[in-house]
Amino acid sequence: MKKWRKLKIFLIVLLFGCLLPEFSVIPVKHATNNDWNAKSFWFEPWGKSGVHKGIDIFGKLGTPILSATYGIVIFAGELPLGGKVVAVLGPKWRVHYYAHLNSDLVFIGEPVWRGSEIGLLGDTGNAKGKPAHLHYTVVSLLPYVWKIDGSTQGWKKAFYLDPAQVIKP
Ligand SMILES: [Zn+2]
Repeated sequence: MKKWRKLKIFLIVLLFGCLLPEFSVIPVKHATNNDWNAKSFWFEPWGKSGVHKGIDIFGKLGTPILSATYGIVIFAGELPLGGKVVAVLGPKWRVHYYAHLNSDLVFIGEPVWRGSEIGLLGDTGNAKGKPAHLHYTVVSLLPYVWKIDGSTQGWKKAFYLDPAQVIKP
């Protein structure tokens, strides 16, 4: 039956995406793991978001922002909180979200490699008036239900992964 064939193709594509290796890098050029606070993921209280669903990697204004993984740009534009934002769909059905950029250097649909320059570090959106930093979030489109815990908005941990774990060498 046609329906089953479509489902089979869908499942194969889904599985293939999961099996792609990630090979990630720290998305701020020359940054080390001393440039973010390990405790900043799921830190609360955190303004309008309640909890901080990413990490803030600090650096000099204008430092190149690198794509942490290969993938396809699915968003490049302005958001009220994020300011100038780039989102990349990478392997394992994960969306990598880069916010507060000074400028974005990519367009929607553009393929990027690990380490491609996708923007410049800035202080746009709700980072205005704060030290310049990259807000980096990794969202899994497939739920990791076993990561849900009793913390504030704990069910969202099925989708928001700790970026520090993703870019761990
Ligand atoms: Zn942040």
